[in-house]
Amino acid sequence: MIDSEPIRTGSPPAFHLLAKPTGAVCNLACEYCFFLSKEELYPDSPFRMTDEVLEEYIRQYLEAQSVPEATIAWQGGEPTMMGLDFFRRSVELVEKHKKPEMTVQHTMQTNATLLDDEWCEFFKEHNFLIGISIDGPAELHNAYRVDKGGNPSFDRVMRGLDLMKKHEVDFNVLCTVHAANGDYPVEVYRFFRDELEAEFIQLIAIVERDNETGFQEGNEVTERSVKPEQWGNFLMGVFDEWVRRDVGKTYVQLFDVALGNWVGAPPSLCVFSPTCGTALALEHNGDLYSCDHFVEPNYLLGNIAETQMTELVASDEQQKFGRDKLDGLPSYCQECEVCFACHGGCPKNRFVETPDGQPGLNYLCVGYKAFFHYIDQPMRIMADLLRRDRAPAEIMQILEAGEQKAFAEAGRNDPCPCGSGRKFKHCHGRDR
Ligand code: SF4
Ligand code: SF4
Ligand code: SF4
Repeated sequence: MIDSEPIRTGSPPAFHLLAKPTGAVCNLACEYCFFLSKEELYPDSPFRMTDEVLEEYIRQYLEAQSVPEATIAWQGGEPTMMGLDFFRRSVELVEKHKKPEMTVQHTMQTNATLLDDEWCEFFKEHNFLIGISIDGPAELHNAYRVDKGGNPSFDRVMRGLDLMKKHEVDFNVLCTVHAANGDYPVEVYRFFRDELEAEFIQLIAIVERDNETGFQEGNEVTERSVKPEQWGNFLMGVFDEWVRRDVGKTYVQLFDVALGNWVGAPPSLCVFSPTCGTALALEHNGDLYSCDHFVEPNYLLGNIAETQMTELVASDEQQKFGRDKLDGLPSYCQECEVCFACHGGCPKNRFVETPDGQPGLNYLCVGYKAFFHYIDQPMRIMADLLRRDRAPAEIMQILEAGEQKAFAEAGRNDPCPCGSGRKFKHCHGRDR
């Protein structure tokens, strides 16, 4: 144990931390999981966070936050494999160490397969916000999300989700987009909205490096990875459905972050910010890494039982990690019209060359570029509504009115206003 110290100059007023109490241990074996191989970093470990590390983590983390709200975020592997008593204790420790007037939100990312009534009662009692990993309807979800015997996990996830609904636990959906579900944006989105009644949806691209180390090395990707164009089409497909029906009702994180960038607000997600470095990962034994995607020896900052967390976060190494996102941005990105929204994306995906041979371009660039151009006009309209103190949801009426007019005015040989690429007379104008 170490005594508390004042926050070192240079430490950010707040930072995010994903804690992994079981390290990489999980009851599932999703084929694209980038984290399972991290088990090899700790060869003889029992992969269980001890009570001592747990208390150090919570005490140091809460002390380091100079803002009135903090989040204790659990992730994996599969955190529920720690058992419920571990989380009961974490709640106790938060109460013990939080500053007066501080509000602490507990969150957990889980595959939901091990949940029962007792877990859900606990989540409800302590207002946990639960992120459920699910990739769409059964066939699309089961493509890669299987257990260690190769058996599909969908039914078990849905069982856990039904229990959470029964106990009115707050949940959001985290969907990874990959080769198998990437061509079905509307089906996936409607499933979340209509079947799961999810109000918060996070979309994450699977870009899985194909190498022996499991680290962010090399420039080959597996066939499970989403293709750049596929990623762009997926986002545009979901956006089309959302912007016409669900603005203000369903929160799609990526669209919300984009709107913030169109309004000119400080970027709220590291991936679409000029710099990063304030979203770190804590392993089960107290090792602190630069980011959840860089749990690798080169990005190990130190152990919180030996060095104060604030010192590690403020270290030159971590500052450089965050600045590299900007310093390594190729001029191709700097000159890009949608750079204000994209900022080059996540450095973990920046392993391809620009058309003129500069390194550091995002593998997903083509998709991002298409998507951010595609949403420019509706984003401008929503940003303008916001600036005039009106609800962005008004865009739905504006688009509907515009579309009705476009359909009414379309000539037989004009392109159909629905965007199909067909002539109006062969598409929505057939009946006229
Ligand atoms: S549930 Fe999460 S941690 Fe477990 S194998 Fe799947 S992706 Fe990996
Ligand atoms: S590497 Fe990517 S995920 Fe990690 S902090 Fe930077 S932008 Fe965020
Ligand atoms: S869209 Fe492509 S070129 Fe533009 S900032 Fe993003 S990654 Fe760079």
